[in-house]
Amino acid sequence: MIKAKAINHLGIAVKSIDEAREYYENVLGGEFEGIEEVAEQKVKVAFFKVGDVRLELLEPTSEDSPISGFLEKRGEGIHHVAYTVDKIEERIAEIKEAGLRMINEEPRNGAHNSRIAFMHPKSSRGVLTELCEPGH
Ligand code: ZN
Repeated sequence: MIKAKAINHLGIAVKSIDEAREYYENVLGGEFEGIEEVAEQKVKVAFFKVGDVRLELLEPTSEDSPISGFLEKRGEGIHHVAYTVDKIEERIAEIKEAGLRMINEEPRNGAHNSRIAFMHPKSSRGVLTELCEPGH
């Protein structure tokens, strides 16, 4: 099972971090924390801290990035909710044992040295759900 400890971040798809930054920083009032490229996910990400939660803006770095497909189909907007977990391998094993589907059956490398895995939205009530074990 997920055994969520907290909401780690909300993933938001954007066409351009440069263009979206004005809104998230100046209109919303998020605290810009930096930009990082996550090659494995074919995205560039920018984090904005809002209270205890971060917003993760996701900009595709390639036409075959999963975020490119999302933007084409739905435009900019909420892409996923990420929950803080510990022992991500155990969490994945328990989810699969319960007959629920994972998109990633092995942890992948996320931003900030985290390890992440996405559940299949059909097994998470229509919300793309990311398990996120923070890096140390
Ligand atoms: Zn994320």
